Amino acid sequence: MRGWVSLLVVGVTVLAAVAVVAAAVRTQPATAATGSVAFDLMGDLPADAPRAAPPARAASSIRFPYEAQREWLALPTTNHWEGRRGVAIEYVVIHYTDISYARTLRAFNTRSSDVSAHYVVRGDGHIAQLVGEADTAWHSGNYLFNLNSIGIELELDKLTNPIFREEQYYAAAALTCDAAARWGFPLDRAHVLGHNEIPASTHTDPGRTWNWPHFMWLLSLCAPPNAATVRAAFVSQTPYPVVAPNELGAVTIVLRNTGGTAWRKGSAQEARLAVAGNDGRLAFLGEGWLASDRPAVQAEEIVPPGGTATFTFAVKGVLAGT
Ligand SMILES: [Zn+2]
Repeated sequence: MRGWVSLLVVGVTVLAAVAVVAAAVRTQPATAATGSVAFDLMGDLPADAPRAAPPARAASSIRFPYEAQREWLALPTTNHWEGRRGVAIEYVVIHYTDISYARTLRAFNTRSSDVSAHYVVRGDGHIAQLVGEADTAWHSGNYLFNLNSIGIELELDKLTNPIFREEQYYAAAALTCDAAARWGFPLDRAHVLGHNEIPASTHTDPGRTWNWPHFMWLLSLCAPPNAATVRAAFVSQTPYPVVAPNELGAVTIVLRNTGGTAWRKGSAQEARLAVAGNDGRLAFLGEGWLASDRPAVQAEEIVPPGGTATFTFAVKGVLAGT
């Protein structure tokens, strides 16, 4: 029985070892769903997930996250600057057009308008890229924020697209996650801003109908995991199993996702639980204990920030010291 006391200590150690493996760069085809981890937003959220208000129109045929497809419609250099004048990119600014997609593109191609944005998202989610992210678009009305941000315009127009559509949320979220991965800024409300939040802004876009909680939740699904956003807290574990030598017992540990990145099974954002430093030479750990090459994987398809993940594994009874 003394062996089990040692194992209980190890069980606590396990809690410190949760790791979201962030090795892979996502390489799925641009329009394909992400395999088994593809996630229907109208579908199976964990019961305790922070559920955003349902969108006005469900894009049920689209699965998110996905890789943003861009139609490159480069502007002549009259309405933007090449480069960033040495300033780091740290923000995304969300806008709406107030005119149709077509008129927006015409305006951005008109020298005298003095306006541009990196991206324009049509009502159906189609993305036009007009300015490279390494260059400066004139979208925020603020010299510094033009230099340090990426501007995304969403088509919102009385006739052509009177409401924000789910396809637009998806497209803008995919672009924002891409930008965060590329330039290294955090995906929080201090770095993802509305035009109305730019210092000294006189604009009101994206306005009251833009669903910020929903958009930030989408960002948590595609956010690049990193040391700043991956965190976990212990919730519970099953009572310690009493198993006879050479019999199996199941152990379940529940952790809460306290970080800013969703854990997605089968993706680069999958949460895995292991005992740091465990290996076969540590006989007291028994057979079946988690090691970095044999982790327990989250049971749930997706665990958004605030949700809980379940890790279950079997251990084989051994006698202490054997
Ligand atoms: Zn604006």
